[in-house]
Amino acid sequence: MVSSIRFMDRVHAKRLRALRRRLEEAGVEAVLLTQPANWFYLSGFTGEAGAFLVGLHAVALVTDGRFAAQSASEVRGAPIVTHQGSAFEAVAVWLSQQSINRVGFDPAHLTVSQLDALRRSPGAGAAWVPLSGAVEGLRSVKDASEIAQMRRVALLGSEVMKHTLKALKPGVRELEVAAEADYQMRMKGASGPAFETIVASGPRSAFPHARPTAKRLKKNELVVLDLGAILGGYCSDLTRTVFLGRAPADIRRWFLAVREAQAAAIEAAQAGVACGDVDAAARGVLAGRGLEKYFIHSTGHGLGLEVHEMPRLARGQKETLQHGHVVTIEPGVYVEGVGGIRIEDDVAILANGNEVLTRVPRDLVEL
Ligand code: ZN
Ligand code: ZN
Repeated sequence: MVSSIRFMDRVHAKRLRALRRRLEEAGVEAVLLTQPANWFYLSGFTGEAGAFLVGLHAVALVTDGRFAAQSASEVRGAPIVTHQGSAFEAVAVWLSQQSINRVGFDPAHLTVSQLDALRRSPGAGAAWVPLSGAVEGLRSVKDASEIAQMRRVALLGSEVMKHTLKALKPGVRELEVAAEADYQMRMKGASGPAFETIVASGPRSAFPHARPTAKRLKKNELVVLDLGAILGGYCSDLTRTVFLGRAPADIRRWFLAVREAQAAAIEAAQAGVACGDVDAAARGVLAGRGLEKYFIHSTGHGLGLEVHEMPRLARGQKETLQHGHVVTIEPGVYVEGVGGIRIEDDVAILANGNEVLTRVPRDLVEL
């Protein structure tokens, strides 16, 4: 265990150095991080309440008594400040002790009232400077050990998918299918689902983010199953679509178009390629089949400690893919009143080429 602790110490220290370079570029002396995935990334802390402060020369984890023992056992390399009253008062005290005058905060993660409380805290003299996605930018590029972890969770998700597909049959409720998927995740060692498992059947499959209901699956309808697991903090995200019966010609045609769109986008997803061009590769195939208007979301998203991360594979995105990005590729076709088809896999961008981490056949399954 000692060697793995030392290894994580080194990893966290390297990440802190990279973040400090960003702080210097942004002209701030510290940043306040209130997003759990960010403090996990920088310190290993898995608690949900607190604040992580990274200065150019010091760091601190501010949390409350519920997390005192947990943080002491998880966090290496950062002093822990356990506060009694308000976390933000403790933050203000730390900043003034460190003589820090300019602090970055992420407007996406700090509410207006929290920022107000910070500015009003006794002793708070620091200027608060918006600084978006400083840690998220670092997190989007995974190192080899993170990619190895994402391969493990993708394979776990793939096993759950293969198992759950066998549970699909007429008469079973969507909620029962979702429960089976979640049960299998935990039985296979996941800490839980990365998001609420989607089971959408019949016309409901045309809603890309349908929550499972008490509706029973019926013969001759589409079922979209979208699930993700968390393992060691990292997420997978995987979708397959099946037809309960023999698929009519239209549905078969849509399915093949989505599969081809996905293959084109996976092929396009290479280091140095603009994210918007990966989206365009999928969209172009569907446009060629007259189906573009039924593709109502973007082609994919980054994946890691959170299920939606940078980069976004969306129309017009100029950011380029880099070695270490892990993204989903998930085109779909949604026809209101009829149903939807989506095929989603997780792809790691490598120095040369890419690796599809999820492993479930993409054939049209007719049950
Ligand atoms: Zn998904
Ligand atoms: Zn997704």
